[in-house]
Formats: sequence, C-alpha cells, structure tokens
Amino acid sequence: MARYTGPVCRLCRAEQKKLMLKGDRCKSDKCPINKKRPAPGKDPKGRPGKRSDYGLQLREKQKLKRTYGMQEKQFGLFFERALRMPGITGENLFVLLERRLDNVVYRLRFASSRSQARQVVLHGHVTVNGKRVNVPSYLVKPEDIVEIKETSKSLVVIKEALKEFGKSGVMPWLELDPDAMKGKFLAAPRRSDITDLADIKEQMIVELYSK
Ligand code: SF4
Repeated sequence: MARYTGPVCRLCRAEQKKLMLKGDRCKSDKCPINKKRPAPGKDPKGRPGKRSDYGLQLREKQKLKRTYGMQEKQFGLFFERALRMPGITGENLFVLLERRLDNVVYRLRFASSRSQARQVVLHGHVTVNGKRVNVPSYLVKPEDIVEIKETSKSLVVIKEALKEFGKSGVMPWLELDPDAMKGKFLAAPRRSDITDLADIKEQMIVELYSK
C-alpha cells in the first residue's frame, strides 16, 4: 500500500487521539484535537454508536501504526517478529517499534516529529556507533551511540528541534548530550516505561492478528 500523503491531522481526528505527527503544532492551540474537531466524515453523528470487537481492534492497530509512521506491510512484519520473540507479544512489539532508528532520533529530540526524524535518517544525517545509517527501520541495540553526523550538526532543522523539544528531556531508556548532538540507547524499554502511549491496548492488536 502507498504511503499516506494526505493531511496528517486527519489521521488523529479519525482516532480522536493526538498521534503527535506534526511537531510544534501538536503542542499548540492550533491542534484540531485540542479544538475538539470531530472525526472526519460527512455525518459523524449518524455512525453507529457501538463498534464491533473487530472495529475496536482495528482502531488500536491503526493508532499504533500511525503513531510510528509505518505502512501496513512493514507493521505486519514487525508483528511477526514480535511473535517469534520470547515473552509477551504486545510488549515485544512496543520494544521493536521503540528500537527503530527514526523513532530513536525523534525520542532524542533531533527532530520534532517521527516523520521529520525519518527524513533526517534518510538524508544520511545520522550515525550509529560512528557509521552512517540511512535506514529508518534499522533496529538500535542497547549501548548503541546515535549521533548527528559532524557535517550535519549545523543544520537549522535539527538545532531548532533540539532547542524546542530538548527542554522536556528524554525518555528514561535514553541518554542525551545535547551539545554534542549525541545520544545513547541504554536499554530496551519496558512497556510501562512508554508512558506517552499508555492508552494503547496492545492486547487488542495481538487479538486482531490472531484471527
Ligand atoms: Fe495534528 Fe499534531 Fe494535533 Fe495530531 S496531534 S491533530 S498531527 S496537530
């Protein structure tokens, strides 16, 4: 399936949840979710009030997939990988998603959104353990050093993101040296550490893929 290129706020409105896809705007009063805009569609009030189990499971999957900016096929591959790992599949899925290089770049505040982080990686501005990596789905491992390439450290887009978003610190499984534009992935997070996505019910996603 092709990558979605329409208005991204529409995706949040469809889920009635802030998926944080637009950087600065997501924290401002301009966010349509803050304004309580309804879900897209001609007549939201005319929709059936109660969703089927399948409908609810599908919405949870869409929320998680869209939050990490993934396409259907790749998300399915991540799920299959999570299924093969020891432990709880839903939690494994979160760990794999958090290990994606574009996500780590976003979490380290080198970009204001995951889609911008994806561009930063694709354009070759990021190194892992000193080597340039331009694959957004690359899986970062514990103790890996993720850094902005020396010649890219003057890029305004990265400096601005770090300045604006760096104030709020980084997640507990990461370490950031903002002056050096360098971070460390300390360890894989536990599900309970991913507090900003606490409302996503991963068990429903597991049930959806088990059908
Ligand atoms: Fe748009 Fe961000 Fe608000 Fe989502 S959270 S509706 S992407 S401004």
